[in-house]
Amino acid sequence: MTDTDKPINFIQHVINADLEAGRVAKVVTRFPPEPNGYLHIGHAKSICVNFGLAAENGGGCNLRFDDTNPEKEDEEYVNAIIEDVRWLGFEWQGDICYASNYFGQLYTWAQYLISEGKAYICELNAEQMREYRGTLTEVGKNSPYRDRAVSESLELLEKMKVGAIDEGTMTLRAKIDMESPNFNMRDPVMYRIKKMAHQRTGDKWNIYPSYDFAHGQEDAIEGVTHSVCTLEFAANRPLYEWFVANLPLPSTPRQYEFGRLNLNYTITSKRKLKQLVDEKHVEGWDDPRMPTISGLRRRGVSASAIREFCDSLAVAKTDGVVDMAQFEHFIRDDLNNNARRAMCVINPVLVTLANYAADKTESFTVPGHPNRDDMGERSLAFGRQIYIDRNDFSQDTTLSRKKFKRLVIGDYVRLRSAYIIRADEVIRDAAGEIIEIVGAIVPDTVGQDAPEGIKARGVIHWVSASESADCIVKIYDRLFNKAAPDAGDESFLDHINPESLAIISGCKVEAGLADAVAGDHYQFEREGYFTRDTANATNGSELVFNCTIGLRDNWK
Ligand code: ATP
Ligand code: MG
Repeated sequence: MTDTDKPINFIQHVINADLEAGRVAKVVTRFPPEPNGYLHIGHAKSICVNFGLAAENGGGCNLRFDDTNPEKEDEEYVNAIIEDVRWLGFEWQGDICYASNYFGQLYTWAQYLISEGKAYICELNAEQMREYRGTLTEVGKNSPYRDRAVSESLELLEKMKVGAIDEGTMTLRAKIDMESPNFNMRDPVMYRIKKMAHQRTGDKWNIYPSYDFAHGQEDAIEGVTHSVCTLEFAANRPLYEWFVANLPLPSTPRQYEFGRLNLNYTITSKRKLKQLVDEKHVEGWDDPRMPTISGLRRRGVSASAIREFCDSLAVAKTDGVVDMAQFEHFIRDDLNNNARRAMCVINPVLVTLANYAADKTESFTVPGHPNRDDMGERSLAFGRQIYIDRNDFSQDTTLSRKKFKRLVIGDYVRLRSAYIIRADEVIRDAAGEIIEIVGAIVPDTVGQDAPEGIKARGVIHWVSASESADCIVKIYDRLFNKAAPDAGDESFLDHINPESLAIISGCKVEAGLADAVAGDHYQFEREGYFTRDTANATNGSELVFNCTIGLRDNWK
């Protein structure tokens, strides 16, 4: 699809109308993560939508940390989020924004609403407040503190702020409508007492604003024109608009909601992902099985695959579950185009080519990628001893050529980019295990057809025994073995796939990859796509490759 016939999503329609009518001069959006966890694939969609809308309309997108709740927030998350957004390929306009930068302004606006008779200090405790709130079928009751004097509320708010009031005993509430059919409008809480230091403002504040009292005002301060969030905030929109209408804000942002991205066989809840980390079901936030951006990166998924996947999804007004296979299609497609080719023998068995001189070596020049000239060439060392995969060898001479296109005793196979070879006999250890295959090369078959009467069964990969490096290969399967792990009565923890990680040591990779760099992508021929693991990627340390994905979709 070209850019011009890409369907326009409903937010772009709104933007077009706003630009045409002159309601908006420059489109400004924002991505507003709360730094209470690492970003996941769902956030990537929100990032692509927000940064994408800004870019397509010549506007800007802010990166704003919604750091209004010090209890769960941490600097580690702030740094990880910044790294992830950059790695995905997006640049925010201006400086990074923080909701905590606006605490002073928000406080002034709270005082303003009190002065206007539109907010009050309430002394109902949490349980009483629930009681007064009413139910879906029953309207709420006014708080007995609703009509307290403006001066009294102002004074109490100040006391709350400086820490002179106990937690849980008072809140600041907006005076809206206890009979509203929308719960969010039944005198929502604007400030809560929380005697807790904040990672950026220290112990300056003993009260922290609610999401609802903060978000729209933050947007207004930053000149955000289109505040795009997910559907669960649709019921908060009237409240968002109420604050915008009742405060002297520097601009008038508007909120639009679209459907969350959910992927099957995984979860996109920060709280649950944090539980997986805290309870050590995975190695950490960047475990390659995690649907986090950092996990996907470490697994070897490229930023462009994530962006293209997100862009392929509709920006819809309903939530949906996307099939993991759809994401994997984008991952595979991207790697097929961009990963260098290499050979790695995962389950090696030694082959001695008896008619090849022991002191002879050759090197064959092969392309880095079959159709990418810009990826240059690599050289493959060849010698008397090589490794092939045990699964590429059989002693069963009755196997049909069609069924088993690999090496069979007494028969021929081609080594990728090298000779045709024949297997003649096997050498076993005391336990009967094959430890070596003895065979021969067919001379003059590198880059040339087989001579008359010889027919290779197929092509297999291999590495030189002397010019290869030992490595460990980690193969991942889906983290959960249930399509909707967090639906139903059981805990999502009950559906963790116990076989989601296989660690295979003693693999042999071509020598050129001994100093592979984490984040470089390789296709190990006939095996799959791999990248070096970041966990031990320093020079001289163990060589570990993560399998990003197999060559074909063989998920059943
Ligand atoms: P959680 O509820 O799991 O903690 P969150 O949605 O509250 O996650 P935020 O840090 O508030 O996490 O999210 C930042 C932005 O990303 C918000 O605008 C939110 O709507 C959006 N977002 C979060 N999850 C998804 C998702 N699965 N699909 C699309 N957008 C998402
Ligand atoms: Mg949130």
